[in-house]
Amino acid sequence: MTIQEIADLAVECGFDHAAPLDVSRMAFRTEVRDMCAADKCHMYNRSWGCPPAIGPLEEIREKAKAYQRGILVQCTCEMEDSFDMEAIEDNALRQKEAFVKLTDKLRPVFPNMLPMGTGGCTMCEKCTYPDAPCRFPERLMPSMEAYGLVVSDECQKNDLPYYYGPNTLTDTACVLID
Ligand code: SF4
Repeated sequence: MTIQEIADLAVECGFDHAAPLDVSRMAFRTEVRDMCAADKCHMYNRSWGCPPAIGPLEEIREKAKAYQRGILVQCTCEMEDSFDMEAIEDNALRQKEAFVKLTDKLRPVFPNMLPMGTGGCTMCEKCTYPDAPCRFPERLMPSMEAYGLVVSDECQKNDLPYYYGPNTLTDTACVLID
């Protein structure tokens, strides 16, 4: 399956934008993991897909670097203003549904793929962490930030906009494949 075919599939699954991701240029930064530890997004130590459960950056960075190809996928919405919570939540849901659809279609073709979602893993309404093992380890979606990625930088390096104009919001995720 070519990257173009995967990008077309992503759009079929509901994404507004998809672009190839150059894995060799990805930057896995310690500073981003430090921000995770500051718990600004309230996901630190609350999910199997986020630090510290996902593992030390040095370890998961090596795992990610072993992939050959990748794709960035995005859903964009228009907001009435920057406090338009309804639009923000709708876009997050659309992004999640499209990502689950896409990764479920890709998994049989690329069983070893590495999906990285938007924010923490949202597969389950409530994560089992830390009381019980992950319910769906094969469908777990670690966040891009858990891998130390600055999402806007990764988009920019791959000529994919991160900002689509005033009063728009874009959620971004990616999948690495071998
Ligand atoms: S699949 Fe469910 S249990 Fe596993 S990390 Fe995601 S939300 Fe948590």
